[in-house]
Amino acid sequence: MEEPPIDDIHVDQLDDEQDVEFRREEEEQELTDKDQYLEELLHKCQAVLDSFQPVEEVKWEKRMETLNENWEASRPLIFKTILFSQCPGIPQECEVCHEEPWFVRCEECSGKKMCHRCDATTHEKLLFHDREALVDDSFQHIPPNVLVNDNGKVEECRKHLFYHDLSDMCPQCQQRNTLSLCPLAGSIIVVNQKGRFDFNDYTVVCSCCGYYINPWSLERIIAAGYWPGSPKDFNYLFDQNLFRQWDLLQKRLPGSSEVSFLKALGDFSQSKGRVGCFLL
Ligand SMILES: [Zn+2]
Ligand SMILES: [Zn+2]
Ligand SMILES: [Zn+2]
Repeated sequence: MEEPPIDDIHVDQLDDEQDVEFRREEEEQELTDKDQYLEELLHKCQAVLDSFQPVEEVKWEKRMETLNENWEASRPLIFKTILFSQCPGIPQECEVCHEEPWFVRCEECSGKKMCHRCDATTHEKLLFHDREALVDDSFQHIPPNVLVNDNGKVEECRKHLFYHDLSDMCPQCQQRNTLSLCPLAGSIIVVNQKGRFDFNDYTVVCSCCGYYINPWSLERIIAAGYWPGSPKDFNYLFDQNLFRQWDLLQKRLPGSSEVSFLKALGDFSQSKGRVGCFLL
C-alpha cells in the first residue's frame, strides 16, 4: 500500500487539531450558554420568591385595615344595641305565651323574655341556664333557685338535680307513678365550666311500699358526667368536662395555678348572681 506524502500527513494532522480546538470551543460555548441560562433561571426564581412576600404583607395589611374600618363603621350600631339591651323599658308581653308581661330574660334561651309561668316551666329542667330578673326597673342576675312570682317579686324556690331524670317506676315494688320527692336540708353543689351552682338535697320515696331511693349514688353521678368531691361525700359534684378543660389549659399554660383557676370560676359565678366561693 502506498503511503501518503508527508505534506498530506501534516495537513491531516492540522485538520484534526483544528477540529479538536473547534469542538472544545463549541463545548465551552455550550457550557457558558448553560451557565448563563441557569443564572437567568435563578434570577427569575428569586424574582418570583421576592414578589411573594410583599404581596402577602400588603394583602394582610389591607385585610386588617378593611376589618378595622368595618368594626369602626359598626361601632355606633353595636353600642346602641348593647345599650338598648340593658334598658328594660315597660315589660311587654311574654315572648313564649304572649299572654302575660315578662319578668325574666334568659341569655341561654336566645335572650327570650318570659313571664313567671313560662320561666318556671322552661327552666324546670334547664337548671344551668343563667337568667336575669327585672327588678326595680333594672336587670339582675338570678341563680337557678330563684324565680319571679306573678307579682314580679323575686323569691327563692327549690331546685333538684337529677330528679327529672329518675324513672317513674319504683325499683322495689315495680309500681309506676308512686314515687314522690322528699325535700332534705342541705345543698348539692355542682361545679362546671360556668362555675358553681347550688341545688337542694332530697330523696325519693315510694308511696306504695315505702322504699327510699337515694338520688346520689356513685354510679348515677359518674354516669351523668360528674365526679364527686369524695367517693363517700356527694355534696360537691364536679363536671367531668371541667377536669378536661383544666387539663388542656395547664398543658397550654404550664405553671397555671389551680387555685386561681377556681377563683376565676368563682368570679364568673358571682357575675351571674350565683355563689362565688369554693370551700375545697
Ligand atoms: Zn309566658
Ligand atoms: Zn333558658
Ligand atoms: Zn315501691
